Amino acid sequence: MRTLLLIIVALSLSQGLSQNLLAADEPPQQTAVKRIALSFDDAPRGDGAIFSGEQRTTALIKALQSAETGPVVFFVKTDHLSMTKGVARIERYAEAGHLIANHTHSHAWLSRTDTDDYIADIDYAETLLAAFSNRRAWMRFPYLDEGTPLAKRDAVRFALNERGLANGYVTVDNYDWYLDQQWQAAVRAGRSVDTKALRDAYVDLLLGAVLFYDDIATNTFGRSPAHILLLHENDMAAMFIGDLVAALRARGWTIISPDEAYQDPLNAMIPQTLINRQGRVAALAVDAGLDPQTLTHLAIEEDQIDAMLSERGVFGQVD
Ligand SMILES: [Zn+2]
Repeated sequence: MRTLLLIIVALSLSQGLSQNLLAADEPPQQTAVKRIALSFDDAPRGDGAIFSGEQRTTALIKALQSAETGPVVFFVKTDHLSMTKGVARIERYAEAGHLIANHTHSHAWLSRTDTDDYIADIDYAETLLAAFSNRRAWMRFPYLDEGTPLAKRDAVRFALNERGLANGYVTVDNYDWYLDQQWQAAVRAGRSVDTKALRDAYVDLLLGAVLFYDDIATNTFGRSPAHILLLHENDMAAMFIGDLVAALRARGWTIISPDEAYQDPLNAMIPQTLINRQGRVAALAVDAGLDPQTLTHLAIEEDQIDAMLSERGVFGQVD
């Protein structure tokens, strides 16, 4: 796995070098610009082993401000609003200039939920979100589960359209939540943590995911679309989002607002496949003939993430 990562890093460095050489003669072509927006799901999440919920909100706002990302979007799981300071935390994100959107109230799997119940859950979340500023009419499917079978999927699509809610799709899927979960477990177990190695694991995992889906997009559409990165409002993000943004920029990426990202033509390209759990680029690629078996990468494989953490010695023994 380390060899693969080294190859990716080497490729990224060589690309950066050739871009720099080109830049000496002429400005880079507009089409060469790589753009990505940041989105954070499940906000406001509860207390973690590292930050309380309130501390996390403070740290994340500060980190985004320091990194000068501009607006990001928080997809709110509205039953979290009832926790202590839950409403105040979302207000703080909005006051800091970030966008607020719907991630349902109960965070159910659409494929396992009665269609009418699911739609009612979306509607209830909308009523709870109505008072917040910087609202956007976007709904992100929990687990990226856009529904099976076909009739259920289409019923919810129809309901969203009726309500003027757009699918808050992602283009880059990854298991940042799993990395955070492993970190929380290690801290709770009293294991030592190599913070630098943890940071590098987070950054490498997410960069790898971004490159994976951007390659698929480029192969499928002949262009690099405006991406939307799936992240979660977790301690990992609060600690390392600045490092991730710096690493993306070092490789030629520009952080854009979710408003800009959802203006991409991808927004109007509605996938037909029911294989929709890895976001829009993957689904459209499957529609275009990509073998779904090839849609696998380090950042969505729990055992591979565990192996990477172990190989890099991120978590030590119990002190
Ligand atoms: Zn979620």
